[in-house]
Amino acid sequence: MSALTPQRPGMPARQISSSSFAEAFDVARSKISDLTVDEEEDDMATPASSAGSLCSDNESPLTDGGESPASPVTPITAPCTPGIDPDVVDNFAFAFDIDGVLIRGGKPIPEAIEAMKVLNGENEFGVKVPYIFLTNGGGKFETERCKDLSGQLEIDVSPGQFICGHTPMREFADRYGTVLVVGGEGEKCRDVAESYGFRDVITPGDILKANAATAPFRQLTPSEFQNSRDLLEGGVKKLSDIVVEAVFVFADSRDWASDLQIILDIAQSKGGRLETRSETFDEGPPIYFSHGDVLWSAAHEHARLGMGALRKIVETVFSDTSGGKKLKTHAFGKPQVSTFEFATRLLQQWRAAHHGLAESAPPDTVYFVGDTPESDIRGTNAMNEKSSNEWYSILVKTGVYQEGTEPRYKPRKLVDTVLDAVNHGIRREMSKLGSRKGTGGRLLPLDDVALKSFSEGRTPDFVTSAGPFSDP
Ligand SMILES: [Mg+2]
Repeated sequence: MSALTPQRPGMPARQISSSSFAEAFDVARSKISDLTVDEEEDDMATPASSAGSLCSDNESPLTDGGESPASPVTPITAPCTPGIDPDVVDNFAFAFDIDGVLIRGGKPIPEAIEAMKVLNGENEFGVKVPYIFLTNGGGKFETERCKDLSGQLEIDVSPGQFICGHTPMREFADRYGTVLVVGGEGEKCRDVAESYGFRDVITPGDILKANAATAPFRQLTPSEFQNSRDLLEGGVKKLSDIVVEAVFVFADSRDWASDLQIILDIAQSKGGRLETRSETFDEGPPIYFSHGDVLWSAAHEHARLGMGALRKIVETVFSDTSGGKKLKTHAFGKPQVSTFEFATRLLQQWRAAHHGLAESAPPDTVYFVGDTPESDIRGTNAMNEKSSNEWYSILVKTGVYQEGTEPRYKPRKLVDTVLDAVNHGIRREMSKLGSRKGTGGRLLPLDDVALKSFSEGRTPDFVTSAGPFSDP
């Protein structure tokens, strides 16, 4: 089948205004070509899986063969580079996970607002620290999520400093014709996919509308029925005339049972052709998840199941219903090193565009603050292994990680809240500068107490409470 030719006339062009993020991201996307696929020997090696720009496997160690392009890039959020902010630091930066770190159940974690103020200059040193956001969540336009975050954190969050789980999926828009997009509220993820440039997007609702017997216990609501596309139009007489070339789970499923059924149907189809069944169970199209997190931190006191759980179910049930055949799905997002490399480039551009810092000189240290050891800490530590600069993992106790438990992936530092994380990073950096005092290190404005501490060769006030995993 042609990867570029839809099997049928597409929908009338939707009037989706291209988000400013899309424009901002055009430069960043041009630099993502080094994302790679993590292949295993038992991978089904679906036609496109070997050509993908991502990797994932729940069990295997992270692997990533791509090299970040070293060439300077054009600032993405400003037409011209601003002058250097005299108060901004150039040797370190922060990157934040969102859920369980800054936001929980749609509300800001109290210390998060203060942490943002500290980064924006309200700290004992009077310095501003560049930062970006890197979340596995999604289901909205990036611009919408930034607007939400701006209100929640009482700051201006720009799409130029934001990456969500499905952001890298835009790279696949030109690769596939008809795709199935799963997850999210209503038609939102279809809209997002189309804004990314996907040309022929169908959803589980479209399939259910065409054949209600697909999921016997799922009945579309009147509005769902109305909003779903009519697949049997434009010369398409039956669903088997439609070939799905890839499945993209953009956001968490709102109806796991019917989505599971439909994903499995396509995974076990003859080359993605709807309502067919492969005899060999190795003809299905590639299946991509925007991330692989099994748990995430929501309003409930205990972590909730995320799309990583659905991914595991898909793979398990596929095997159970295909005589033991294995299905290899793929996931973007953390902990993939490629996602952190993507973030590196975004951070470089953000530092240049917003702070006027030279893009050619990356920060010596990036502090990544997260709540999930399996994604945030694992990915940061793996990035640190590979990167030329330091990626320093900080785990907070406000989300998935439960105090008193042993995290499978150890952070460099364990703290209570994101505010502690920010203070720890800033103070650690200031202590470095202090230790370099008189040896050419760049001195930043320090208060008398800090200078006295440095002159005495100590940093007693800068070390947060010692605990497990402490690595000041
Ligand atoms: Mg989180």
